[in-house]
Amino acid sequence: MIKVDVLPINPWQENIYILSDETKECVIIDPGCLSRGEKQYVVDFITQNKFKPVRLLQTHLHLDHIFGARFISEHFGLKLTAHKEDEFLIGEFKSHAAKYGIPVEDETPELKEYVSEGDVIEFGNSILNVMHLPGHSPGGVAYYNEDDKLAIVGDSIFRESIGRTDLPRGDYNSLISCLKNKLLALDEAVVLYPGHGPSTTVGHEKKNNSFLI
Ligand SMILES: [Zn+2]
Repeated sequence: MIKVDVLPINPWQENIYILSDETKECVIIDPGCLSRGEKQYVVDFITQNKFKPVRLLQTHLHLDHIFGARFISEHFGLKLTAHKEDEFLIGEFKSHAAKYGIPVEDETPELKEYVSEGDVIEFGNSILNVMHLPGHSPGGVAYYNEDDKLAIVGDSIFRESIGRTDLPRGDYNSLISCLKNKLLALDEAVVLYPGHGPSTTVGHEKKNNSFLI
């Protein structure tokens, strides 16, 4: 049984997700911890819960989701993993941070492993299936577990809203079509955990998301 912990962080209130199961192995998703204090908070949370991090995953590589990626990967000895189509965003890490006036001390994160549609991520006794959801960014993915009916969806969909598509290589039509045909095709009880804000369900979005009705 997967337990989902949510740690909203940084000026964008980006949700860091820590998924664990009865084995205490865990995966860390979207480590947006920016300040030294925020990084320590994430490390302390993992240590206090006696979690053993085995994977470091990204739903996508926008700035607010990767502030702490280099730190977390080095601290826990994990390979930063994301979809290849988003790799170009890593190269813009420093310049984007400068553009927004964000003091980034860390070196640019390095992508060490790729995920793509249909991949299976294992941790403890659990698995996550990778769904490619391009549109908010070209390499956006969701991590889905069928048994426990949950998906970590990044910024593709929010409660009664959808991700913006005006950022580099965003694509509105592609986002709408993969949300309708893939994500909302899942069981209505599946809980969706977005990159910002509260969780929702497939059923709720099918009834209430005006972008997707
Ligand atoms: Zn984003």
